Amino acid sequence: MPGMCLNPSLGRLGSPAHVCYLRHVRAPGTGVAPRKSCMKPASFYHYCPKCGVRQAAPPAAQVFNCSACGFRLFFNAASAVAVFITRPDGQLLLIERAKDPGRGKLAPPGGFIDIGETAEDAVQRETREEVGLELLDLRFVCSHPNAYLYADVTYPVLDIFFSARVSATVEARALDDVAAVRWMDPRQITPVDLAFPSMQYAFLKWREGRVVPVGG
Ligand SMILES: [Zn+2]
Repeated sequence: MPGMCLNPSLGRLGSPAHVCYLRHVRAPGTGVAPRKSCMKPASFYHYCPKCGVRQAAPPAAQVFNCSACGFRLFFNAASAVAVFITRPDGQLLLIERAKDPGRGKLAPPGGFIDIGETAEDAVQRETREEVGLELLDLRFVCSHPNAYLYADVTYPVLDIFFSARVSATVEARALDDVAAVRWMDPRQITPVDLAFPSMQYAFLKWREGRVVPVGG
């Protein structure tokens, strides 16, 4: 998986090694070191974007605070959605990712939420764009933080997971950013085959049946 900081030895979800992945530090006992070229968005702010004064120290992970003019800029997590889609025979739809991060790995359909868009609308839109399906009976599963590496920048993301159904007659297609679509027996899926630790965590929650109806 070129360009990824994924720790292949994450072990149990929620374990110190898993948390380590999110914090981008070496996991005790795993021997996996972070890539030096990976930077978080805040680390690019050497100058104040308002007054232009160079800063003596890089900003903290959460906020840029200009030492000259007092300008403050907060760095927050982006929001993304994904959905576990089943058809009446119980098969789960997974896509094979066409691009990094996670190229070639399996994932539920999903993507980033646009500015001004709800999570519910985003998951419908992304599903339409990636596999050409309309979702029924949308339910909330869980959320989980993720670290998304793109072009040597590691973006902090909050992934929001849903479940949904489709009718027996619909046919999923591999569209935007999707190499292939697969209907799979959920009991045959190994969580580590999913692209990100957040997806692995959510998949287990979903398979346990922990879902909540989405209002409205
Ligand atoms: Zn300034």
